[in-house]
Amino acid sequence: MKFKPANNIQDLQYFGEFGGVNPSISDSSTYTFLSAKTMFDTFEGNTDGCYLYSRHSSPSNLYLAEALAAMEGTETANVAATGMGAITPTILQICGSGDHIISSRTIYGGTYAFLKNFTPRMGIETSFVDITKLDIVEAAINKNTKMIYCETVSNPLLEVADIKALSVLAKKHNLQLVVDNTFSPLSISPAQLGADVVIHSLTKFINGSSDTMGGVICGTKDFINSQKSVIDGASMLLGASMDSLRASSILKNMRTLHIRVKQHSKNASYLAEKFEADGLKTVYPGLPSHPSHEVFKSMMNEEYGFGGMLTIDAGSLEKANTLMELMQNKNLGYLAVSLGFYKTLFSAPGTSTSSEIPLEEQKEMGLTDGLIRFSIGLDNDIERTYQMMKECMKEVGVL
Ligand code: PLP
Repeated sequence: MKFKPANNIQDLQYFGEFGGVNPSISDSSTYTFLSAKTMFDTFEGNTDGCYLYSRHSSPSNLYLAEALAAMEGTETANVAATGMGAITPTILQICGSGDHIISSRTIYGGTYAFLKNFTPRMGIETSFVDITKLDIVEAAINKNTKMIYCETVSNPLLEVADIKALSVLAKKHNLQLVVDNTFSPLSISPAQLGADVVIHSLTKFINGSSDTMGGVICGTKDFINSQKSVIDGASMLLGASMDSLRASSILKNMRTLHIRVKQHSKNASYLAEKFEADGLKTVYPGLPSHPSHEVFKSMMNEEYGFGGMLTIDAGSLEKANTLMELMQNKNLGYLAVSLGFYKTLFSAPGTSTSSEIPLEEQKEMGLTDGLIRFSIGLDNDIERTYQMMKECMKEVGVL
């Protein structure tokens, strides 16, 4: 049967403590026990349904985690305070001193900086490769390799990882395939294609209102429990736990995710086609000109489209900056990092979200000065938006 992520979310049923249509918010950091023995057993991990301390878990966090696990089709999930608060403990739970990671070279700048500059301090080495070249990925595997890390659709270059093929490779060499699916919620379900762990920054599309940070790790019960272990669990011990009030607000926003993703995709697809026809160098997985268009198509849950992210090349940083300022002045969006907002957001990744990547390496991976990354908003009248953007582009000489 076809995997239906939004149905899985819809089919969950929660009631509040007094019959409310929303679950009650667990507004407590700690929990009482009627007997000291139960407290001991809970610390030992031998009691189900007992809460200990909210850094470990809370009812509100579990509701949200359950919805996210349903969306990705994994056994369970654990939410975190930020996307990085999900990524870093996952890497550190799987890898220790002497281990090796193969990572896509085009990933979010923070993750790149963590793997490049931080984990070597702990004796973890990373090879950064072109993840779309499976022979290069396989050639980089050595006897210490534990993990393949990638983003389904990469930030900011929108390279598409072939999750199915990577999972075959991972299984063949007994590696964990960890996939950050932040750019393509609902559109692609990496766990259904063989990923072992799926991560999201909830800060983006899933929450969708740019009012909070959040992250999630979706995986097997064994893996998630190991991360929550009071003895040696990276999520529990590093402490980037989500607050219950936030978990409850993100859960409420998730109910409209399927509608929002469709609109983001519809608008982004419209603009990408127009920009490309106008002669702009445009990258969007939904365009047949995208090198991995067919790979995306082979993986996608069709009704959600190709997502809300696209890039154009304005030719130079100066032009990119002038264009973004002008578009902001015309209220076509905001010059801001992040993504998944109702309003279009744009930024030049080379000098912002990917500035952690040295200039030489940016060049090598094709991250040009004039690249503008767009997170296309929910505009009801995208034709009008396009006309206004086109005027701006003409004014600054991009078109
Ligand atoms: N993964 C991707 C693809 C991102 O774009 C980001 C943030 O921009 C993150 C992870 C990190 O998430 P957060 O900012 O919520 O820590």
